[in-house]
Amino acid sequence: MAQSETKSGWLGWGRRGTAGAAIPMALGFEGVTQRFGSVTALSDVSLSVKPGEIVALLGQSGCGKTTLLRLAAGVERPSAGRVLLEGRDVSNPARFVEPEHRGVGFVFQDYALFPHLSVRENVRFGLRGQAPAAADATALRALGRVGLAELADAYPHMLSGGEQQRVALARAIAPRPGVLLMDEPFSNLDRRLRDVVRDETAALLEETGATSIIVTHDPEDAMRIADRIVLMRAGRIVQIGTGEELYRQPASLFAARFFCDLTEVEGRVSDGAVDTPFGRFAAPGIAEGAAAIACIRPHRVRIVPKGYYLRGRLIGRRFLGEADHLQVRVDGFDRALSVRAPLSDEIAVGDEIGVEIPSDEVLVFPAADQ
Ligand code: ATP
Repeated sequence: MAQSETKSGWLGWGRRGTAGAAIPMALGFEGVTQRFGSVTALSDVSLSVKPGEIVALLGQSGCGKTTLLRLAAGVERPSAGRVLLEGRDVSNPARFVEPEHRGVGFVFQDYALFPHLSVRENVRFGLRGQAPAAADATALRALGRVGLAELADAYPHMLSGGEQQRVALARAIAPRPGVLLMDEPFSNLDRRLRDVVRDETAALLEETGATSIIVTHDPEDAMRIADRIVLMRAGRIVQIGTGEELYRQPASLFAARFFCDLTEVEGRVSDGAVDTPFGRFAAPGIAEGAAAIACIRPHRVRIVPKGYYLRGRLIGRRFLGEADHLQVRVDGFDRALSVRAPLSDEIAVGDEIGVEIPSDEVLVFPAADQ
């Protein structure tokens, strides 16, 4: 549903700069392992999040992202290791700090609004320590920031998914938590609405200044919103860095695949490089004779006039707006090379073309890395 088509008509977000600043807290995980019966959801995870930093936990379904978030919130207790808030161990069984005493806000994936409470009462729920009039004013201010003050007396079932998400966000920020945890906050929204909500949420996080962790399986969400991305796989952290670092210097084939569709070409390393039908590419750090995979990113390939560089034939073209998605056949490679590039109207499917692949743009990983 687009923003202009929400159940209650168009309701924009509130004025930026009115969210109310929090005092951000440092959050740490030290050697955290979490087991559920025979399932090990997290293995020896260590991570430090600086006060005010926005971190995205990125990874496939089941890799342990939500479990890490739940440990930070205190709704789960670690099997081993420690959770630290401002350097203080809050997960020690003898001095365990309960969720309501951690100063942590949580936006759940399904929003978890109370159906029998109005929007205002939902937001007030996190403000139980305040006097009623003050709590009401705080709740209305938070609702105003997300543009929903007019819906304060509505009930959750009367709201669209996007509006429910905003109520959940208002509820989480109203108490001005030092840490804000968000579990897949955009996953239930459609593409168009999602872009608006993501940008507004990013602005709001910056305003509150709260240390924030956002769980997502979408690399684009992570790159757009986070200062640092923590890439996880099977209960472990596999790489930490800015979006640009992970995209440009993925540490593994897994990380490279996560951030980009690739054409993968197998070969063997000889004299420090791998020979492929697309050329010879440096394979630093990979043993002589080992099987390697060269990864070619679709938007790094250039289509040039026939007769230049590699000889190819255009076998497929799909119009995608700003660029075309092209499939190109190159001698010696029995699959299609994927290319993302604008294509001149003078070239048609079936034509012979030239293909340029800058060799420093090709990533090479050990095949055993998969
Ligand atoms: P998704 O993106 O699907 O939410 P996730 O990366 O957040 O996945 P988790 O929800 O943290 O993954 O789950 C990690 C693993 O731990 C999964 O195998 C899951 O089935 C298991 N798990 C999580 N919570 C429990 C639980 N309470 N009891 C048993 N197993 C659990």
